[in-house]
Amino acid sequence: MIVMKFGGSSVQDATAIRRVASIVASRLAERPLVVVSAMGGVTDKLVQVAEAASRSELSSALSIMDFIRAKHLKAASDMLDRSQSAVFEQDLDTVIAEATSLITQLAASRAATPAQHSQMLTYGEVLSSLLVTAAFSALNVPSAHADARALIVTDCRHPAASPLAPETRNKLLSVVPPLLEQKLVPVLGGFIASSESGEITTLGRGGSDYSAAIIGAALGAERIEIWTDVSGILTTDPRICPQARRIEEISFHEATELACFGAKVLHPATLLPAVEHDIPVAVLNSHRPTEAGTIIRAYAAHGPSAFRAIAVKRNISVFNVRAPRHVGSLRFLDDLFSLLRWHHLQSEIVAISGATASVALEGNRELVTLTSELEALGEVEFQPDMAIICLVGEDIRGRIGIASEVFGVLAGAGINIRMIAQGSSEISVSFVVEEKDAVRAVQQLHRHLFEQPAIATSHSSTSAQRETAQA
Ligand code: ASP
Ligand code: MG
Repeated sequence: MIVMKFGGSSVQDATAIRRVASIVASRLAERPLVVVSAMGGVTDKLVQVAEAASRSELSSALSIMDFIRAKHLKAASDMLDRSQSAVFEQDLDTVIAEATSLITQLAASRAATPAQHSQMLTYGEVLSSLLVTAAFSALNVPSAHADARALIVTDCRHPAASPLAPETRNKLLSVVPPLLEQKLVPVLGGFIASSESGEITTLGRGGSDYSAAIIGAALGAERIEIWTDVSGILTTDPRICPQARRIEEISFHEATELACFGAKVLHPATLLPAVEHDIPVAVLNSHRPTEAGTIIRAYAAHGPSAFRAIAVKRNISVFNVRAPRHVGSLRFLDDLFSLLRWHHLQSEIVAISGATASVALEGNRELVTLTSELEALGEVEFQPDMAIICLVGEDIRGRIGIASEVFGVLAGAGINIRMIAQGSSEISVSFVVEEKDAVRAVQQLHRHLFEQPAIATSHSSTSAQRETAQA
């Protein structure tokens, strides 16, 4: 079996849901299970509902709920005939009544407990999964709704609960295989779950990918497909570099490293259950279903370059702090990181040499206020308006000359490097440049690493390499 997850924009209206139905229809032989997010924008609206209700703004909370109801009903009536629509409307109104009763509770108590807040957010996926199930049946994709709140078991932490794998697996195994046997496509809402004691929980914002990975791992799926509105993961941000190309395969570690440095698409941490079970995850574009997308897996095949991708993170500042001679370096570093922790600042990259520590932080000129506090530790230099560029690739591990190749490209372009760090896992090289140079640096590096066949790695020529060479 396979798990197919469709995000909010892939189910945002009738047109999108029709597209989903035809993609799922093309995979029936592989026995798909479908996970859907809330319709695009609905979870944000539900946050507003919870906020308005806890301010006792009852009419504003109810009018947002009306909007959500109308959005689902509109999509339904665009896809279903009258009688099918009437059946869906009954289900819809049962859920809306439950949400409304929660709204009145919040308005009366003038507050939402974390549990109530989570519960409010689950209605988006409850509704979208009912809608998609109804649409599938109307569009001749035999399907059955399965309530994820009764199948995914978590602890009680809000707003991002952790799944309990054995309990979840048992529940899924009792419900899903019989549906697949009957050649029905089970449709579940992502993101939503409940605790062993029956408290409604969520897996945290954006958690539908996590649901797909949990379900795929529990059921031993052959593949998990994450359907989005982009064509897989690209070698770099196409707004910076229009020549960015699709990555065919990327390792889980590479994807994680990229996400840390600002690459969008999806949060690889949520794919961990799949990676642990060695299940490949395909990132695909629902607008272009025939494109191959990107496969994320524990170990990925060699690509056309030793590097897999380039990520950029702007809005960075660097602090260089030099300890006075008499202070031991352990004490100095300890004080430095305590201070950052105190301010809830997470260092993006850190370089330590002798008595000097350089720390790159997300943020700009507003961070200047830290200078006076850091001066208690030593001499401080503050450099705002910086950007981090991170080059990722498992194939660079142990390769000689990689750093000089990269820095040679930047030197050739006259770009000054302010700070360098090579991850201890040796799968990434990150460095800081002035923000004004970042676009040019990425373009030059991309051209050198991904657009010239000459630098292709020493590994035997793969079809991907030949494709690059011809491009
Ligand atoms: N609907 C939830 C959110 O917007 C979960 C998801 O889309 O993955 O955060
Ligand atoms: Mg999402």
